[in-house]
Amino acid sequence: MTGPRVLLIEDEPQMRRFLRASLEGTGFSLIEASTAAEGRSLAGSYNPELVLLDLGLPDGDGITLTKALREWARMPIIVISAQGREANKVQALDAGADDYLTKPFGVSELLARMRVALRHAAAAGGAPEPVRSFGDVELDLQRRVVTKAHVEVHLTPNEYRLLVVLAQHAGKVLTHGHLLKEVWGPGSAQQTHYLRVYMAQLRQKLEDDPARPKLLITEPGVGYRLKDVA
Ligand code: CA
Repeated sequence: MTGPRVLLIEDEPQMRRFLRASLEGTGFSLIEASTAAEGRSLAGSYNPELVLLDLGLPDGDGITLTKALREWARMPIIVISAQGREANKVQALDAGADDYLTKPFGVSELLARMRVALRHAAAAGGAPEPVRSFGDVELDLQRRVVTKAHVEVHLTPNEYRLLVVLAQHAGKVLTHGHLLKEVWGPGSAQQTHYLRVYMAQLRQKLEDDPARPKLLITEPGVGYRLKDVA
């Protein structure tokens, strides 16, 4: 196998079997660990290009493991978590995970998230693209101009900043805390109502139908994601 190396850290044998079957024939090369300790050791010896991480492990939690991996490794970490544990997802993302999937999830969604994460990791090494497009929305970072269907859209400085942060991590979920810190500064981590207001304004200006957003996606209880559409 020569495809991207994926390390799966998951204690449930059924889940491992499902993921092994899902990745078969997709070109990914999979190695499995069933404990946090084994995962940490394989992350060092196997040098994976992507990690799939379950949060509840018998010998420790995925959040602590994420922090430990982030001390030396930059490969994308996608958390696979049980449903209804929003606080854990937020903690994992803030600890340095790149994305999360809630069980149960579909194979195509998993593969799409893995491809986005790998693409981001590859792009992070190169020069940033000056112009990014998301459907008919174009963001020119150099000229600080945003257009929709080739018509310039006027954004306030905070709306623009929020869009830039989302665009820099397009396809990935960003937590409320992360977005607030980036746009309004470290003292504003609790002001989630700022985000609600500004996301509503951005949707008014950029979405075809602000009530049914296709670009600026809400991740309930966690944060927001700018959909990575071509
Ligand atoms: Ca588990």
